[in-house]
Amino acid sequence: MKAINTMYINGEFVTPHGTNTLDLFSPVTNQKIAEVTLGDEIDTKQAISAAKEAFKTYSKSTVKERITYLENVRNAIEKRKEALIDVMIEEYGGVRQFSAMTIEFAINDFTTMIDLLKEYQFEQVVGKSKVVLQPVGVVGIIIPWNMSNGFIGTKLSTALAAGCTVVVKPSEMSAQQTQIMAACFHEANLPKGVVNFIHGLGDVVGAEITRNPDIHKISFTGSTNVGKMIAKGAVDTMKRVTLELGGKSPNIILDDADLQTAIPTAIMAAFLNSGQACAAATRLLVPMEKLNEVNTIAKNFAASLKVGDPNDLDTAIGPMVSQKQYERVIDYIQIGQQEGATLLTGGTQKPQGLEAGNFIAATIFTNVNNKMRIAREEIFGPVLCIIPYQTEEEVIEIANDTDYGLAAYVSASDIERAKKVASQLDAGRICINGLSHDAKAPFGGFKQSGIGREYGVYGLSAYLEPKAILE
Ligand code: NAD
Repeated sequence: MKAINTMYINGEFVTPHGTNTLDLFSPVTNQKIAEVTLGDEIDTKQAISAAKEAFKTYSKSTVKERITYLENVRNAIEKRKEALIDVMIEEYGGVRQFSAMTIEFAINDFTTMIDLLKEYQFEQVVGKSKVVLQPVGVVGIIIPWNMSNGFIGTKLSTALAAGCTVVVKPSEMSAQQTQIMAACFHEANLPKGVVNFIHGLGDVVGAEITRNPDIHKISFTGSTNVGKMIAKGAVDTMKRVTLELGGKSPNIILDDADLQTAIPTAIMAAFLNSGQACAAATRLLVPMEKLNEVNTIAKNFAASLKVGDPNDLDTAIGPMVSQKQYERVIDYIQIGQQEGATLLTGGTQKPQGLEAGNFIAATIFTNVNNKMRIAREEIFGPVLCIIPYQTEEEVIEIANDTDYGLAAYVSASDIERAKKVASQLDAGRICINGLSHDAKAPFGGFKQSGIGREYGVYGLSAYLEPKAILE
C-alpha cells in the first residue's frame, strides 16, 4: 500500500500542513491501493504565495527561456511515459490504449506550444497603437480525474508559454499520477514556485483557489455544476475564467452514410474512455428508415467489445473510476428503462467474472426520445442513446436541442453535405466522418459546456491580458 504524503510547493516536495487522509481504491477490485494526505487552506495559501513570488521574475522571462523550459518538461514526461500510462490504468481504470493516447496528447501539447511560441507576436500593432500581450498572473488550475495528465499537458504548456505561474489542484483521486507529473516539472529546472501541485478536496483547496485574491485566473475542467460555483466565486475578485464543462454530444448519421463503418465508429466515440469523456458522442441520431439496420449493427458491434481488465491491450471498456460513479451510471440505466426507452444491449447486470470491480456492460438504448433524461443529462459511462429522426431539418433541431454544446459528429458519404450540416450545429468542435484531434484548433463549449477555448492561439490568448499603448 502506497502512502502519498508530500506535495509539490515552491520547487520542493514538502510535508503538508493538512493531516486528513483519503483512501484510494482500485476500480478493478475495490481494494485499497494507496492513501493520500490532503492539503488544507494553509497549504494552498503557501502554494499561491510561492506562485505569486515566482511570477515577478517568470513573467519577465524571454520566449527563448520559456521554450527551453517547455522542452525540458516534454523530455521529462517522455522519459516517464510508461510509468504514467501504468499509473492511469491502476489508479482510475483507464484502458491501456486510451491511457497511452492521453500521454501522447500531453507530450504533443508541449510541442504545439513550443512551435507557437516561435512565431507568436507578444507585441502587435492594432490601429495606430501598440498592443502588448502580458501574462495574466497567477493561475489556479482545477481539473477532474478522467484525463488528468492530458489536462495538465494542455493547461500547463499554455500557462507556462504565456509567462504565468500556476497552482494545480488535480482530483484527489489522481494523487499517484499527480506525483509523477510533479516530478516531471521538478526535473525541468523551472524556477521555484512557477509550478505547484496540491492534493486536496474541491471544497477545501478548490474553494481557496477560487476566493484567494492572489489568483488572477482559473482554468477549470470538470462538471457544469462545479464550474458554475467556481465562476460565481471567482467574480468577487474579478478572476478571468476558462471553463471546460460537461457535454451530451450529438452524432448525426446522414442517410447516405456507410452504416457498416459509421455505426462502429459512433459506438467507439460514445464509449471513449469507458464513456467517461466530456466529448463522448452519447446521442446517436439516425434516419428513422434505417433504425432497424442500425440496431442490428450496433448490437453486434457492442457484443464484440471487450469489457474487462484495463491493462489488457484489447479491452475497450474498463471499470468506472469509483463506486459512486458506478452507482450513478446504473441509476441512469434504470431511469432509461423507466422512461420507456428500449434496451438494445447491456443493462444493470455486472458482466460475468467482473463482479468485484466497477464494471458496466456496453449499454445501448434505442428508440430514445430527445426529451428523456437519458438524452438530456450527462451520464459519464458506457451508455449510448439511439434517437431516430425523419428529416435533415429535424436532425439539426434535435442535435441543437440540448443545454450543452461541447462537441458534435457528422457522418455522410457526401462530405459537402456533412459540412453544410456541421455549419448549422452549435458546438465548439465538430468531427466529420470519425474521431479526430487537432491540438492547434480551439477546443471548448457553446452554452453550458463552458466559457472560453483551449489549445493553440485561442488557448494562449486566454492567459494574456492585452494592453494598448496609444501615442
Ligand atoms: P467535478 O466537477 O466533480 O470535479 C472537478 C474538479 O473540481 C476536481 O478537482 C474537484 O475536486 C474540484 N471541485 C469540486 N468541488 C469544488 C468546489 N466547490 N470548488 C472548487 N473546486 C471544486 O468533475 P469530475 O467528476 O471530477 O469530472 C467529470 C466532469 O468533468 C464531467 O462533467 C465531464 O464532462 C467534465 N469534463 C469536461 C471536460 C471538457 O474539456 N469540457 C473534460 C473532461 C471532463
